[in-house]
Amino acid sequence: MVAFWSFGAHTLNMSINRNLLFLEQTRKRVLLSDGGVGTELLKLSLSEEDFRSNRFRNHQNRLLNNLDILNLTQRKKVAQVHRSYLMAGADIISTNTFRSNYEAQLCYGTQDLIYEINRTAGQIARQAVDRFMSESEGNPRFVAGIIGPVGRWDANSSLHLRSQVAGLIDGGVDLLLAESLCHRETTRELVSRLCDILMEYDDPPIVWISFTITEMFDSHRVLSEIDCIKRRLSRLMPLIVGINCISADNIPQDILSKIAEEKQILISCHPSAGEPDNRLNYPIDEVGFQHIMFEFLQKGLLNIVGGCCGTSPRYIQRIAGRISEIDVRMFTG
Ligand SMILES: [Zn+2]
Repeated sequence: MVAFWSFGAHTLNMSINRNLLFLEQTRKRVLLSDGGVGTELLKLSLSEEDFRSNRFRNHQNRLLNNLDILNLTQRKKVAQVHRSYLMAGADIISTNTFRSNYEAQLCYGTQDLIYEINRTAGQIARQAVDRFMSESEGNPRFVAGIIGPVGRWDANSSLHLRSQVAGLIDGGVDLLLAESLCHRETTRELVSRLCDILMEYDDPPIVWISFTITEMFDSHRVLSEIDCIKRRLSRLMPLIVGINCISADNIPQDILSKIAEEKQILISCHPSAGEPDNRLNYPIDEVGFQHIMFEFLQKGLLNIVGGCCGTSPRYIQRIAGRISEIDVRMFTG
């Protein structure tokens, strides 16, 4: 079978509205997102030379552990991480762009490559999905373009965010996921600027906002922030809101239940496998993770479930094996 997916994002855009396709899927089933991308790349123990490759052989800064530059220098390795999650059963894979922003790339002297890094990362993930779909007859799969948090905003920040967003959209992502948001002011800035940027697009991707709850950003504040976000992004509905990168054994059920009362938004949760030790071993294994996540899923609180730091394709596979048992959470968006 030659799947229409194999022709790539642009054909897909012309033939089917991808937002409608995504929403149609969310009405049928709980969707599974991937696990940690960065932690999978770190497991490869790549060297400074690997990070540089030929292209950055003479680059003035160290590039070691600039995981985002791997989109340009180790495309195949990034693609392999995506593929391993697709094979594990993930419906949504996320681009390797958590730190593909100006502020983070400035430390490596690669801040002028924001658009290229994001576009290439989008293309790698898009191609991984298209290739996988052309080989199998399963459900549609989607790409979430990741936007990580930034520490501060200045006069040029909108311009930088615009490059990031344009790169991801041009790379062919289906969704834009701003994740691990934990500071109130920077979150508000991000949401506001993201909204302004996306309003310039005729057919913007669905926006997905995900918080991590820290002492600086407690549960009650999260609820009031979600209210703000709903108001600010009302023109971009439907919206996905969720929690990520909190330890799986510490998910605030009261907050999720509260968010879940809002029937017009989709709810997600992709927690971490706990706090790692200094050798990057995570305390919650895939069996424990599956157990915890199914307790939540059985309460009907979630539309999208997955993992964050420390979760691997094995974790996602454990959830994929039983996710069809779960009734989908109704939403009216
Ligand atoms: Zn994480």
